[in-house]
Amino acid sequence: MVSPKYPSSVGKVVAALKTRYRDFNHYNLKNPLDELLFIICSTKTGEASYRSTFRSLKRTFPTYLQIAEAPAEYIARPIVSGGLSNQKAKAIRNLLDVIIAKFGEPTLNPLRKMRDEEAEAFLLSLPGVGKKVARCVLMYSLDRQVFPVDTHCWRIARRLGWVRPTQKDKHCAPRDMDRLQFKIPPTLRYSLHVNMISLGREICTPSAPHCDVCPISAFCSKIGVNRTKKKLRLKIAR
Ligand code: SF4
Repeated sequence: MVSPKYPSSVGKVVAALKTRYRDFNHYNLKNPLDELLFIICSTKTGEASYRSTFRSLKRTFPTYLQIAEAPAEYIARPIVSGGLSNQKAKAIRNLLDVIIAKFGEPTLNPLRKMRDEEAEAFLLSLPGVGKKVARCVLMYSLDRQVFPVDTHCWRIARRLGWVRPTQKDKHCAPRDMDRLQFKIPPTLRYSLHVNMISLGREICTPSAPHCDVCPISAFCSKIGVNRTKKKLRLKIAR
């Protein structure tokens, strides 16, 4: 087996981001089925909106059995304010149908006893679940040492020069997710993931990133970054 070759700056980047953002968890959840539905609610909407729609879904259907027995149009009602409610409701119904067929009830708790690879393979077998979502559930809810590559992690890792896209359009392909995960030491993956999200939202934005106030600027190759003089009024770090 090939030994991982970690970027030389990875430890320093993790430490600098941790000092600034303190591993804020972005409200993710410890129950794996909650987490999966929370992620569905978060599709194409802002943080306040998806937190509110997930709460509304749980208030309307206090148990997963109730959601599993409800028609999709009923599931759509409490999540309508988050947008795409019909698609999200159908996705939730489809997921629950497959999970019940596999485990006999609406739960993902059997994943707790599976090895990482087995649990990831099961999650990937669910309709509409890709590597990023599967690894979010594994990391946030099951405390596995994986590295979900979301849009912020992907953008920042490229700018740092840690990974090159294999796709012409620079989209993160599943194999790129594996390559990047392989470059991050397992014990640092959680911290790096949650803090890259915070950095990507506040400073390393898609266009005009604020490199002048970035806590990891000393370690960054700034690949593909357009220079900007735009100033950022910094928020107090959490
Ligand atoms: S220095 Fe600039 S490009 Fe590099 S991580 Fe910081 S904000 Fe992003």
